[in-house]
Amino acid sequence: MKKLIAFDLDGTLAPSKSHFDPRMVALFDQLLAKYEVCVISGAKYELFQRQFLTQITSEPASLERLHLLPTSGTRYYRFENNEWTLQYAEDFSNEQKKRILSALEKGLDESGHRVDKTYGPTIEDRESQITLSPLGQEVVAQLGKEGLELKESWDPKGEKRREIAAIVEKEIPEFSIRVAGATSIDVTMPGVDKGYGMQKLLDANKLNKEDVLFFGDKLEPGGNDYAVEEMGIDCISVRSWEDTAYAIEGIVHIS
Ligand SMILES: [Mg+2]
Repeated sequence: MKKLIAFDLDGTLAPSKSHFDPRMVALFDQLLAKYEVCVISGAKYELFQRQFLTQITSEPASLERLHLLPTSGTRYYRFENNEWTLQYAEDFSNEQKKRILSALEKGLDESGHRVDKTYGPTIEDRESQITLSPLGQEVVAQLGKEGLELKESWDPKGEKRREIAAIVEKEIPEFSIRVAGATSIDVTMPGVDKGYGMQKLLDANKLNKEDVLFFGDKLEPGGNDYAVEEMGIDCISVRSWEDTAYAIEGIVHIS
């Protein structure tokens, strides 16, 4: 019997940077009524708010069962005394941020993959993670479905991003540089990935790996969910939020 059900966010619970579908909202609320639930993502906390926290249940007893691990688990939020409370954060120093920002700019320029028309900032400082999104962070917020299609077609196999990452890696070998999500490259301290975040979650809640079931859409080697599989947590690979919804229906109906 699993005690905690964990999910990647983009591509697993919702399309990239998009709201939960109403069907997912209903299922997620049902799951929260019975299980401890975790959402772990490279995305920042503010996107968690935008994509689902504003839509799901406001029932404190349910929210107290929800564990939020934005920016790959370098931050951890729990619902305590009626508000989301930061449990810990592992942030970069200003000096580290400067080095990372200049390496990412160089990667964009030297690879030739700088995009002419961008939507919102292309480099975003998430305090404990810095993320490059060559089309801009707001492409889906501004263009909607068209933005989503633009994202999906820009670098589906990650080739452009691997070229950028190779340049960045040479500049800042002391950090971890990862091709992630649909169009982004994440820079974190070395060893920070979803496996790191999940281990932090297990430790904080005195859970064993066997207690957890994880859903992700990028569980293959090289994918940004692979670290969870690699650490030995039971994982279910999904193609989209619809697959996940189908599986949650099964979980809430038999338990
Ligand atoms: Mg994903």
